[in-house]
Amino acid sequence: KKFVYDFTEGNKELKDLLGGKGANLAEMTNLGLPVPPGFTITTEACKVYLESGEEPAALRDEVSAHLDALEAKMGKKLGQADNPLLVSVRSGAKFSMPGMMDTVLNIGLSDKSVQGLAKQAGDDRFAWDSYRRLIQMFGKTVLGVDGELFEDALDAAKAAKKVTVDTELEAADLKRLVTKFKKIVKTEAGRDFPQDPREQMDLAIEAVFNSWNTDRAKLYRRQERIPGDLGTAVNVCSMVFGNLGPDSGTGVAFTRDPASGHQGVYGDYLQNAQGEDVVAGIRNTVPLAELESIDKTSYDQLMQIMATLENHYKDLCDIEFTIERGQLWMLQTRVGKRTAGAAFRIATQLVDQGLIDEAEALQRVNGAQLAQLMFPKFDEEAKVEQVGRGIAASPGAAVGKAVFDSYTAVKWSRSGEKVILVRRETNPDDLDGMIAAEGILTSRGGKTSHAAVVARGMGKTCVCGAEELEVDTKRRRMTVPGGHVVEEGDVISIDGSSGKVYLGEVPVVPSPVVEYFEGRMHAGAQDADELVEAVHRIMAFADRKRRLRVRANADNAEDAMRARRFGAQGIGLCRTEHMFLGDRRELVERLILADTEAERQESLKALLPMQKQDFVELFSAMDGLPVTIRLLDPPLHEFLPDITELSVRVALAESRQEPHENELRLLQAVHRLHEQNPMLGLRGVRLGLVIPGLFTMQVRAIAEAAAERKNAKGDPRAEIMIPLVGTVQELEIVREEADQVIAEVEAATGVKLKLSIGTMIELPRAALTAGQIAEAAEFFSFGTNDLTQTVWGFSRDDVEASFFTAYLEKGIFGVSPFETIDKDGVGSLVRAAAKAGRETRPDLKLGVCGEHGGDPESVHFFHEVGLDYVSCSPFRIPVARLEAGRAAS
Ligand code: PEP
Ligand code: MG
Repeated sequence: KKFVYDFTEGNKELKDLLGGKGANLAEMTNLGLPVPPGFTITTEACKVYLESGEEPAALRDEVSAHLDALEAKMGKKLGQADNPLLVSVRSGAKFSMPGMMDTVLNIGLSDKSVQGLAKQAGDDRFAWDSYRRLIQMFGKTVLGVDGELFEDALDAAKAAKKVTVDTELEAADLKRLVTKFKKIVKTEAGRDFPQDPREQMDLAIEAVFNSWNTDRAKLYRRQERIPGDLGTAVNVCSMVFGNLGPDSGTGVAFTRDPASGHQGVYGDYLQNAQGEDVVAGIRNTVPLAELESIDKTSYDQLMQIMATLENHYKDLCDIEFTIERGQLWMLQTRVGKRTAGAAFRIATQLVDQGLIDEAEALQRVNGAQLAQLMFPKFDEEAKVEQVGRGIAASPGAAVGKAVFDSYTAVKWSRSGEKVILVRRETNPDDLDGMIAAEGILTSRGGKTSHAAVVARGMGKTCVCGAEELEVDTKRRRMTVPGGHVVEEGDVISIDGSSGKVYLGEVPVVPSPVVEYFEGRMHAGAQDADELVEAVHRIMAFADRKRRLRVRANADNAEDAMRARRFGAQGIGLCRTEHMFLGDRRELVERLILADTEAERQESLKALLPMQKQDFVELFSAMDGLPVTIRLLDPPLHEFLPDITELSVRVALAESRQEPHENELRLLQAVHRLHEQNPMLGLRGVRLGLVIPGLFTMQVRAIAEAAAERKNAKGDPRAEIMIPLVGTVQELEIVREEADQVIAEVEAATGVKLKLSIGTMIELPRAALTAGQIAEAAEFFSFGTNDLTQTVWGFSRDDVEASFFTAYLEKGIFGVSPFETIDKDGVGSLVRAAAKAGRETRPDLKLGVCGEHGGDPESVHFFHEVGLDYVSCSPFRIPVARLEAGRAAS
């Protein structure tokens, strides 16, 4: 195996092996751009080192061979006393992990070669400054010396000289500082600063390998979902210096504005400085445009290089460069990060420039960015009083009265108040409060804290770890910096996209992208801004490309209409239980309690016209598009009073000797229906089989509604869906009854109805016997919520708040399987069931209606396994359309 690649040997496709930085340095080298020569040690070498604790045996010789070649090219040797070659040793993983890993510059300097460098550069000060930087960086990152000690010594040197900036220190001062720094190394690390240049280099390489596994690097990877076993590459690059005087300098630049996407000159330049000076903010940088008057030749060359890079990468690039005595050098480039809005704009701009096609444009954006653009935002014009800033844990803009415990959150929200739940940190007991609140604010915890994980799961705005806020839950108040006290009931505003916390009510403006989807703003119209225009065009690309259809989970006309405006091509799941709440709950209660056939019939008769009206409205809202109606699914206790509350009521009535016959009867029923595991109990198709008349009432309502719509010249396309089927026999019985009811309605109305009947696949047994079930089903809709619950044995209502935080922290999964489909487990059942179903019935229609239907990664999976559609909540529809388009291109 080859462990070392010269920059001339690699290319940008080799990111796995050479890391992002190494691959791009190679690419630039081969484009003929001025890159200082060097070589890259592969991630494979790092992996061997991390696994075995030792570098691969061949590495040292390979490095020697490449170093020899580099020395020959440069005409000088590493650390050579009279004319030293100096190198930088930089980390560079496949994914950028800014500031997470180590870099050492100026390797090759020693007590001897520092003199050579001084002579070579004709600059004593520069040489000693470079040497003290090496000892400082090497001491800190390779030898583990506390960096503060060097900083303190540097500050002391400046104070002694009564100067404020590093550049005012002279050669003699820096020479003294080198002596001091070497002493620090000796005392702290228990060894001398190594004088042998090759030893410096080898130790630095090893330190970069080790920096892959520092705590902060591990934490960063977990948060960014970067796999932990990739390892980092190491780039050894000959040094160029931006601190050789006023004709030298260093800068960063973007080939276009990462915030708006506009083309132009964006970047910063710092004269007479090295890269870390820019990062450290030691002196103020100047806008890149000023380089033109400082060094026109380099500026023109840079502009030309930037154009070359953009045309080559066909994307926004960011770059780091250095000018050494009028000679421009490229130190890094990569496809640059950008805001969500800029991603859409840049993608369409590049299409217009003819650099990329529509399919490629779709790869340049993603559903998460689109979702981000759909959140309402705080009005930027508004006057605000910011009092803190935490971690932007879950996006959105939330305003409400501060409450400090979940009980109050629930109580106040029930009475119509909007509240923000403020806690030091949340725990599973806070779940009710989190659900009731508009947003969640905590003063402790990071991106994987309970509050953050649960809030993201619920799509609720959350700012966590706002440490300047002193939350006092006992006294129900928090103190903000400056001493102001926020009492329970005071209004606060939190921004889950920026992490900012404000006092009072900050006005919220709707997202222009949502306004556009809602039809309140038209792309191409005068007031449509560039963002809406770009989103409009990208959505059109996606719609042209995608094979998957996108439907909505909706159970009333209002949601259905919104879904249609957002581009839904039908309803994939109408949960009829939502139609049985409110005033109708009592009718359902009576149905459940019915002792006699007559009583039962009576309550069913009362429900029928209401159900029918529900469906008439739904069919008109979705006229001409399929509407999948699921027959009643949840366990019956959900329609009955809470067992504890009711027991208390009965006991009270008893003790007061008040009449309580009805309550008692109800309580008996509640006891009878009470189940230890209701989600595995009497629900779904089982209800249809044991409660006579329930499913047939629903089927009749659907059929009559469809007939009515047909008579009104509508185009109803109902699909009847049976939930929680585990075996084909269940489905056959329900189907037979349904077919009979439909035939009756057809006969009575004289209208021919084409109602299809299908089932949900949401139990492992259903998936495993899908071939048989397809005999009795015209369609399958995968209920991946229940399927995930039953395949993993995870209670979907509890686990996310109970032990998922621990699972996420331990890296057992990077994301909840209720959010993104578990491809290996649940997904493989979906794949197999789809295949088996189609073998039985080639025209079997396949869809998914669990929450995964609106999750970007899952949409790609459903595309790949050949489903016909995904169904998701109305708000996620644009995201699903976009991702379906991306999956197909
Ligand atoms: C499912 O289980 O995935 C589903 C869509 O049904 P529900 O969430 O209503 O159980
Ligand atoms: Mg279900």
